[in-house]
Amino acid sequence: MQHHSATWALFAPVLVVSAAPTPASAQEEVSRSIEPVAQDLYRWTSGSYRSMFLVHEDGIVVTDPLNAEAARWLKGQLEERYPGKPVSHLIYSHDHPDHTYGASELADEDTLVVSQRLARNTLVETKAQTLVPTVVFDERMTLLPDWDQEIRLRYHGSNNGRGSISMMFRPQNVLHIVDWVVIGRLPYRNLKGYDLPGMIESTRQVLELDFDRFVGGHAEMGHKDDVRRYLGYLEALHDGVRDGILAGHSLDRIKRDVALSDYSDLAHFEEWRELNIEGAYNQLVDGAYMLMRPDVPKPPDSE
Ligand SMILES: [Zn+2]
Repeated sequence: MQHHSATWALFAPVLVVSAAPTPASAQEEVSRSIEPVAQDLYRWTSGSYRSMFLVHEDGIVVTDPLNAEAARWLKGQLEERYPGKPVSHLIYSHDHPDHTYGASELADEDTLVVSQRLARNTLVETKAQTLVPTVVFDERMTLLPDWDQEIRLRYHGSNNGRGSISMMFRPQNVLHIVDWVVIGRLPYRNLKGYDLPGMIESTRQVLELDFDRFVGGHAEMGHKDDVRRYLGYLEALHDGVRDGILAGHSLDRIKRDVALSDYSDLAHFEEWRELNIEGAYNQLVDGAYMLMRPDVPKPPDSE
């Protein structure tokens, strides 16, 4: 389904006719768009997913390809806008397949596929059906340093999946992070695949960087203050649940007590607040073994 607004307007009547016998396909329609963020730098969107591309002298750097359909759509858009410009680099934000699939739709044999080493390891170990990174790094890597343009990649430790990095575009001063920083919305459901203390540590690290705009892999674009507020939410979630466990309270009681009401304006607050608490609780119990400690009272079965 390749619905860019311009082509959609041209071909709408044809698509309506062809879609009519299979109404199920209408539900699978994904809205896609491209928006400028700064000089030469764009955010592209496919449904609830966001990724970026940067146009430079010798080609185009694309961050996550997302999936085959999205990547094919983007490829068409890039060919239309920048005829003859190759995709010079693909950068995987982390190892998860809902962000890394579809790479072969965008890459040719000269495209460098870049990731942190741990992300590459997962893709190889799990036999993921996407392009294996050809360039890996451990802590930091700077791309395009020969032009008047830099992309600084940095690993901050565990936070979401494996090998999840931050991407800083200079001179645009735009920071791009996928999944472990989300603006305008709660972290996803019960934090499956996330490391909450690691998210807090990584987010503190990126707040020390100088950036004007933030672009996430989901939800809204924002500024440094938004990232600071997001960190405040993570800390309130973590500390509230931790203190409930230390006081010997059950998960049900902690869900009632940790109101997080300062953040009630965030999207999905009503549906996901308790799930976030449950995720934090499970990480502190199953990951940090808090209930195995002699100093922590065993919670009652129900309160
Ligand atoms: Zn994601």
